[in-house]
Amino acid sequence: MSRAGRGARFAFGDGGVDRAGERRGDPTAVAACWTDPGARVLVLRSDGRVLLDADGGLVLEPAGVLAPAPDGACFLGLRGARPFFSVQLGDEAAAAVAARRGGRFADLRGAVATLPAADAGLAAYARALAHWQSRKRWCGVCGAPTRLADGGHRAQCSDAGCGATYFPRTDPAIIVIVSCDDHCLLGRQASWPPARYSTLAGFVEPGETLEQAVAREVAEESGVEVAASRYVASQPWPFPASLMLGFAARARLQPPRVGSELEDARWFAAADLPRLIARGELALPPDLSIAFHLIDRWYHRRTGAHLSPGLPLGGR
Ligand SMILES: [Zn+2]
Repeated sequence: MSRAGRGARFAFGDGGVDRAGERRGDPTAVAACWTDPGARVLVLRSDGRVLLDADGGLVLEPAGVLAPAPDGACFLGLRGARPFFSVQLGDEAAAAVAARRGGRFADLRGAVATLPAADAGLAAYARALAHWQSRKRWCGVCGAPTRLADGGHRAQCSDAGCGATYFPRTDPAIIVIVSCDDHCLLGRQASWPPARYSTLAGFVEPGETLEQAVAREVAEESGVEVAASRYVASQPWPFPASLMLGFAARARLQPPRVGSELEDARWFAAADLPRLIARGELALPPDLSIAFHLIDRWYHRRTGAHLSPGLPLGGR
């Protein structure tokens, strides 16, 4: 089957678990999951890195080894009958687990190259949740400490008179392939590897629709005016808390004029892309990213062929 026919091929979209949200509100049910002999725990360090074994696989530690459940243990859900949790450990405890397992902590953007898709998705889910917990230790209303509840999916203010409740947040960001017939618009940031060009992207602002965010970001970053856009697909991007909402947009072939965010933006002709990539004059994003998927999907629709992704360097 073609790459396009396989649908979403990019990473982090599916952790392979039934989230079993109905169990979260029952502390007894969550505790029973933790003490289940089959329960497994994904281990994160305070910097969000995830524990891998010597072969680059995800370490899923028996929960019994870490008992009792550390503060902030997150109930991720079930694979079949097996419960999965995640914990974020301080540096000393994390180093001890890594030494015992002969493993190492790795950045998920690099680790994704060796992980089965479901494990990469599970780690992304755990990383996003751990990041939210680490930013929600204090109540934003009254300043009192918060307590975690619902298997780590809710933070509750400990002040009885306040009682504010917090749920995990996700920051919506649009990412868009802008095209005009046989040309697509790609940009590059100064900090990227040489020759890397990618789709334009940016955060959705309060009071804005996704379509408005697409038009505003494209105009801000490239000066190009979008005529119409439509939603294509989404990708969780937990670095630290984004959800990338992928769009395809049409525009006139007007000369780009970059703003402060980009070093360059250019229209690329579909027919030129394979030659530029082969010569090293253009490096696309890695295929773990929705950015590559959007570019390749557009190219496939114009030409019937697919493009070569860039190296998995860790960015989008
Ligand atoms: Zn409070």
